[in-house]
Amino acid sequence: MRSTMQEFPLTIGVILRHGAEVHGDGEVVTATADSLRSESYAQVAVRAARLAHALRSLGITGDQRVGTFQWNNAEHLEAYLAVPSMGAVLHTLNIRLFPEQLTYIANHAEDRVVVVDDSLVPLLARLLPTFETVQHVLVAGPEAGSADLDSLRTGGVEVHLYDELLDAADATFAWPDVDELDAAAMCYTSGTTGNPKGVVYSHRSAYLHSMAVSLGVTGGLTWTDRVLPIVPMFHANAWGLAYASVMSGASLVMPDRWLQAEPLCRFMRQARPTVSGAVPTVWNDVLSYLDQHEDLELASHLRLVLCGGSAVPVSLQQALSERHGLHMVQAWGMTETSPVASVARPPAGVEGDGEWHYRGGQGRLLPGIEARIVGDAGDPLPRDGEAVGELEVRGAWVTGAYYKDDDPEKFRDGWLRTGDVGTLDGLGYITLTDRAKDVIKSGGEWISSVELENALMAHPDVQEAAVVGIPDEKWQERPLATVVLREGATVRPAELRDFLARSVARWQLPDAWTFIEAVPRTSVGKFDKKVIRRWYADGELEVAGGSD
Ligand code: ADP
Repeated sequence: MRSTMQEFPLTIGVILRHGAEVHGDGEVVTATADSLRSESYAQVAVRAARLAHALRSLGITGDQRVGTFQWNNAEHLEAYLAVPSMGAVLHTLNIRLFPEQLTYIANHAEDRVVVVDDSLVPLLARLLPTFETVQHVLVAGPEAGSADLDSLRTGGVEVHLYDELLDAADATFAWPDVDELDAAAMCYTSGTTGNPKGVVYSHRSAYLHSMAVSLGVTGGLTWTDRVLPIVPMFHANAWGLAYASVMSGASLVMPDRWLQAEPLCRFMRQARPTVSGAVPTVWNDVLSYLDQHEDLELASHLRLVLCGGSAVPVSLQQALSERHGLHMVQAWGMTETSPVASVARPPAGVEGDGEWHYRGGQGRLLPGIEARIVGDAGDPLPRDGEAVGELEVRGAWVTGAYYKDDDPEKFRDGWLRTGDVGTLDGLGYITLTDRAKDVIKSGGEWISSVELENALMAHPDVQEAAVVGIPDEKWQERPLATVVLREGATVRPAELRDFLARSVARWQLPDAWTFIEAVPRTSVGKFDKKVIRRWYADGELEVAGGSD
């Protein structure tokens, strides 16, 4: 029997219409150099209609790609809403990728138009001659008029001022009916090996993911919220916070390019967010800043701090909670999973110290996402919280392929192989111990680099720590701890080793130690352990033993 329910496609257009017609009073606030600017969702919807007209007038039809090269701000939100709703495909270019990666992805996606922020014109100007399909660039932002527009006029590219185009365009647009399974947006992973890989989100997957981000367990968003996505809209969709906010009627407060602790904290004081999301490094910096500025208080408005993108140390969560009254919740996901797939809130009835076991892990699966742990041969392992293997996921907002790129190694029987290694328990909680490529194999046992790093970062003198496996004749591999000390701190490896021994089994303790100035990072800011392994292999590190 078929249902009697109406066929109502789940599209970005529905989110846009809902935002305009039901939450016209919601607002998007954007940070400027010294103040704020703001527009209502009703105004955003009108500007989205004008943008759609402008793009049509530049020849954008069908599913052509419109790239964005923008920070988190009102104009980026307008593109997020207008481009998919007109049936075209939004391609958020990750400005932090290496130049050759950006060239690759703009050409691979065949971007026709790029919308760029005024402040990013110099960066785009260097890349644009290598973007083969781009015909038009729209320069957005309050300072667009004084940007060096000539630097963008290369190879026949036409350059336009975003606001001028919008002012000349109609304020209403006949949004087409769009198939919910068609492409709405695309994002490339940073591709730590080989070329970046494109993930193409459907309208339906984006809609359902936005609902999952709005759920009580994730953001619990309502129209009384003010959501601050610090995590960029150019990487993994700002964790879906932009669409989820418009859908929920929550206002958005956007940091634009001011992402350092000081301007961020100033912005938070002014814009008073209730919910925010960023990677651990950002919250670490905010924590240090708050520690140094006792008069600064955020807890009266900021009810939830979402964190993920890499493992979130319990020590960071505890410090924010104990010293500043901020409640941090860890989430896990990846570009391929839209990204949010699990959220680390403890089970009912688990309180006090017992909570940390769950809050330190990667969280409980969201409805719409399924997971399993598999062994080396692809054999499913028990869901007992003990068996360690590769995490595989499938679900309503998980990609089943990469754009124009067969990579069968990444998929198995309809499951996405995440490349993350860990356990899954009977209540659907994931605990990751490593990336598959970073696991340390010592004498037939696996040592979790993430566990050692988290334990080390709980030491008051340690700012950051990365642990990698180094070759060992007897054990195959042994852990090397690379440690960044806090300013002014001096501490010996033996002391750190004793500190670790309180929480880590003896055979897992690193017997090689080195102090470095900063942990090398990938283009998207994750620890780049390949570089550390290379430094070690090239003899560039001064390594001490664990008893030194
Ligand atoms: P990239 O472009 O680098 O692939 P993603 O944001 O897609 O960027 O990265 C996804 C990966 O980030 C995951 O597979 C996982 O390894 C890591 N990650 C994300 N969230 C967490 C978390 N809470 N704990 C540990 N690792 C995480």
